[in-house]
Amino acid sequence: MQITYQFRLYPTPKQEQLMIRTLRLCQKLYNRAKEQRDTAYTQEGKTVTYAMQQDELPAFKKEFPEYKAVHSQVLQDCLRRLDDAYQRFFRGEAGFPHYKSADRTLSFTYPQPGAVAQTFAHEGSVYLSKIGWVRMHAHRPFDRANVTQINVKRYADGWMANIGVKLAAVEAGQSVDAAVGIDVGLRTFAALSDETKVDNPQHLRRAEKRLRRAQRRLSRKQRGSCNRQKAKRKVAKIHQKVARQRNDFLHKQSYRIVMKHDLIAVEQLKVKNMLRNRRLSKSIADAGWRKFMTYLSYKAERQGKRFVQVPAHGTSQTCICGADVPKTLAIRLHECKRCGWVQDRDIVSAKVILQRALKISA
Ligand SMILES: [Zn+2]
Repeated sequence: MQITYQFRLYPTPKQEQLMIRTLRLCQKLYNRAKEQRDTAYTQEGKTVTYAMQQDELPAFKKEFPEYKAVHSQVLQDCLRRLDDAYQRFFRGEAGFPHYKSADRTLSFTYPQPGAVAQTFAHEGSVYLSKIGWVRMHAHRPFDRANVTQINVKRYADGWMANIGVKLAAVEAGQSVDAAVGIDVGLRTFAALSDETKVDNPQHLRRAEKRLRRAQRRLSRKQRGSCNRQKAKRKVAKIHQKVARQRNDFLHKQSYRIVMKHDLIAVEQLKVKNMLRNRRLSKSIADAGWRKFMTYLSYKAERQGKRFVQVPAHGTSQTCICGADVPKTLAIRLHECKRCGWVQDRDIVSAKVILQRALKISA
């Protein structure tokens, strides 16, 4: 089990230049490597593997010396990500890998950061190979000896380090995993207090889009016409398929969460607000959340676990230190002025929900 800590980075202008350059070079490498795979396959029927591409890196660096400015593990990680994309495609879990545009390449990763002595020797900084000591605000203590990877990500409002830390098995079973808070949302299906997120699966999003399109077509057909009947049947068919996929997703996710935790805390959904909102996507999501809560609650009961619903009031506008942190929907990052905590807003909400639930059950 692994958790990810997100800390804000404060690079110097020069470091930031290097970081932007790294992003750009990673993007180009990714696209070149993809092109190599696709050409080899279409022209010679050959499959290029991750191992082959990794072996070619030294020669590649000789040809394009600008790549010497990027840590070789970061480059290997780019190739691995590309390989993952192909593997997902081969398993039927995703579409064919796309070329990456510059504005979609927003992070790079050090998959095996050096020893603690190297990486975190200076308090308040992290050592990023080929970039240097970058100032980092680690607002919470974390297990420096068990860092598995460091991902550097560019956001609209600055840079963050996502630091993956492996948890010891015993710890994972008890303290961290025992209780969980869940915040459901439109952007990500659910954010969990253990700092993980559950996304709506791609295939479901695509199916829902198809359904909306079919419904629009149906609404344009003339009443009583033969075409309308046909369109109606089509909508019903897609509808059924989407409902089945959605239920399957909700069952899997609720089961996973219930099996992993002893106490599950969620927010009470506001009935009035939901009914007033006429946006289709919102109402579909709302139906999904309700079902999700129902599944969580009966699965928890069956497994002898606790299911707690807390009042929804202000869970997205407070910090776990108790301070008010007002933010509009557009602000995705929670930044507490009192305790200095910076974190994804949905994760914070999940933690606040958990905190409230623990207070109630205490
Ligand atoms: Zn705070």
